[in-house]
Amino acid sequence: MFGILPALHENQTLYSWCGLTHALNGAVCARTTSTRLFGAPYAALCHDFPSRLNLLERSTRGVLGSTRDIALRNTLLGYYLAIVRRSRAEQIIGLLRTGTIRHLKMLLGITASRVGGHHPLKGCERCCADDEASRGWAYWHVEHQLPSVLVCLKHRCPLFIAWDPVTPVHRRHWLLPRLEHRYMRAEIPVPSDASMERLLRLAADSARLMTLPPASLEPEQLTRGYQRLLQNAGLATRNGNLRTARIVALVRDRYRGLDDLPGLAPLKAIDDQWPGLAASLSRRSARPGHPLKHLLLIAAISDSWDQFFEACMPAAPVREIAAPTVAQAVTAANRLDRFKELVTVHGKSLAAASHALGVSRTTGTLWAKKLKIAYTSRGRPVAERKAAKIRRQLKKGDSISHIATTAGVSMTTIYRIVGTDPEISERRRADAFSRQREIARRTFAALCRTQSDQSLKSIRSRPGNSYAWLYRNDHQWLASQLAEQGRVSSRSR
Ligand SMILES: [Zn+2]
Repeated sequence: MFGILPALHENQTLYSWCGLTHALNGAVCARTTSTRLFGAPYAALCHDFPSRLNLLERSTRGVLGSTRDIALRNTLLGYYLAIVRRSRAEQIIGLLRTGTIRHLKMLLGITASRVGGHHPLKGCERCCADDEASRGWAYWHVEHQLPSVLVCLKHRCPLFIAWDPVTPVHRRHWLLPRLEHRYMRAEIPVPSDASMERLLRLAADSARLMTLPPASLEPEQLTRGYQRLLQNAGLATRNGNLRTARIVALVRDRYRGLDDLPGLAPLKAIDDQWPGLAASLSRRSARPGHPLKHLLLIAAISDSWDQFFEACMPAAPVREIAAPTVAQAVTAANRLDRFKELVTVHGKSLAAASHALGVSRTTGTLWAKKLKIAYTSRGRPVAERKAAKIRRQLKKGDSISHIATTAGVSMTTIYRIVGTDPEISERRRADAFSRQREIARRTFAALCRTQSDQSLKSIRSRPGNSYAWLYRNDHQWLASQLAEQGRVSSRSR
């Protein structure tokens, strides 16, 4: 067990965490740290997919959370598993607990996809600065590492790529955002506002895809979504025959000028494949395909991720989709009207009406409120029990993704419960702060103890030393610590 085990944040890559753990414990040899964490010398240096998670769980005594959550949330895996078949997804998750990642890229279809399995590390300068201010150190965010993400959604700015001539398998150290001497930094040159908007849409959709539970969009569901949207847009006939030339023109036009971007080289690689690709992605017996290809096509033919996602769900009977008014069928106002009609005219329950329109029960309830439909909620006792359990878990401090998984609801639902309960949101905020303070104090104290012969300046140069965070948020404690050790305080920046 390591003396210092930093927290693993929801948006942090496991790779970053390993690098930070290595640095905080003053370890010298990366292979030794990796072996201590995973029982293998290079497992911790792989920055996209995890392996040997059972050994990590043992070496950290499970304090990081469930291995499944770590694999899905803190590595690129969730992004890929959202669109594979359930049996395959479970097989892969099982492999990661005990095995290695040798065959993983093949199992995920990455090797055969021409998009490529190289995932250069990417970061947002402003996120790095925010993280240093709020947590004490900068780290790689998982959502920035997704192959289809080149811009930061939060700051609406381009990401930078950390180029390293050495391939990951030959590295003997971690690349971390603030260890800039170890890589060549290159900002992604977004050519125009219009391009920026398109990249923001890709980034937003990618983040949504990543948070879906495994096998949320199996090939048949994707096919259903494509067929409906393509028919609505007049890009497919009612029989499902694609107007391929028009689809290809649409996609090429949308991403014109973006295929030269360093991170989007795959776009060029698949350019000549679009005719076959559009057909194969929307075919009934579709193979999973690389998420990047799906996301490029989805953004080209839909107004929003929600529109696509809802089109994938079993919803209105086919004849309604194929009706003459189909072009307007998916507009929000229309769906609200249809929803109202189902409940008030046909006497359907909210659950049944929501199901018929392919939206979640929560969305249905929100619509009912918006439409001022008086309803008696069937199945309310179950919903109440579930909500009460979720509140208990929230008060206990369980992670949002863990609660969503165990309760079988979306993270949005959990966030909504947090947002509507001031007591819970305040308690979670306070909990997060005190946890952060505890980590920062322990981290800094341990560094001062183990580096007692080093100057404060030298301690502050270590990644994740927590000094800046303590200076801003826990100044009194910091001052007393420094006084105790006979060190002189220095300004945080
Ligand atoms: Zn950012």
